[in-house]
Amino acid sequence: MTRTVVVTGSTSGIGLAIATAFAAKGENVVINGFGSADEIGTIKSGLEAAGGKVIHHPADMTKPDEIADLIATAASTFGGVDVLVNNAGIQHVEKIEDFPVDKWDQIIAINLSSSFHTMRAAIPLMKEKKHGRIINIASAHALVASPFKSAYVAAKHGVLGLTKTAALEVAEFGITVNAICPGYVLTPLVARQIPDTAKARGMTEEQVKSEVLLKAQPTREFVKAEEIAALSLYLASDDARQVTGTHVSIDGGWTAA
Ligand code: NAD
Repeated sequence: MTRTVVVTGSTSGIGLAIATAFAAKGENVVINGFGSADEIGTIKSGLEAAGGKVIHHPADMTKPDEIADLIATAASTFGGVDVLVNNAGIQHVEKIEDFPVDKWDQIIAINLSSSFHTMRAAIPLMKEKKHGRIINIASAHALVASPFKSAYVAAKHGVLGLTKTAALEVAEFGITVNAICPGYVLTPLVARQIPDTAKARGMTEEQVKSEVLLKAQPTREFVKAEEIAALSLYLASDDARQVTGTHVSIDGGWTAA
């Protein structure tokens, strides 16, 4: 049976890799995220070539009404939502006393509240089918902190609490809810924070890569977006039906220390 998969924030990085992996399995995929019409057209063609039927929905993850429309559009186009991947996220690196209030609000909205809004709309559809998979892309920063990332760390810790609560609420409906906690993946999100981290810590950008980012990961290697996509396929599979209310770390050993 072809499933319908919604991946928020999937025009770049980890979300795009996850959308690609599901498309390659022949699933219907609803992508979301920012980009020019040309960029989104190219992404859609790539995913369709990989094997799936694809639509793009432009919902801004700070806007609850648009998020509800994303889920409603997925259901009216493809007949339901079987897999929901809450992936959209942004970062801002600054010490608390200088942290812009609007950035705090935006990060909490995109990185935490958007997952509540997608689940609120998708869970009734999944309950009807007595089947569903919800995968929240959290972070190693859902388990441990780093300085200068207050909003991100708070939001990602919140995602784990939301994951566990939702899992308990839907456990008897064939729906699982889990989080993935990646370490550093060299996507545009990480590349963008390197100059800010360098400024905040008084380091060069090369020092930030080796002494801050990869220092946290005992393997000394970045995680690949495709490796997170492979884990998402597993969590969405039938074999993972008893895996719920938990997180899986994919962080090169970061949180073992
Ligand atoms: P990215 O910047 O490459 O991609 C982010 C995606 O989210 C893009 O498609 C962008 O258009 C979309 N987006 C941003 N704001 C949005 C909004 N308001 N509404 C809708 N879409 C929006 O980032 P990434 O590194 O691929 O990160 C994806 C997720 O993985 C995030 O939740 C991030 O916190 C998490 N994560 C990333 C890393 C890492 O090292 N890159 C590590 C752990 C967790």
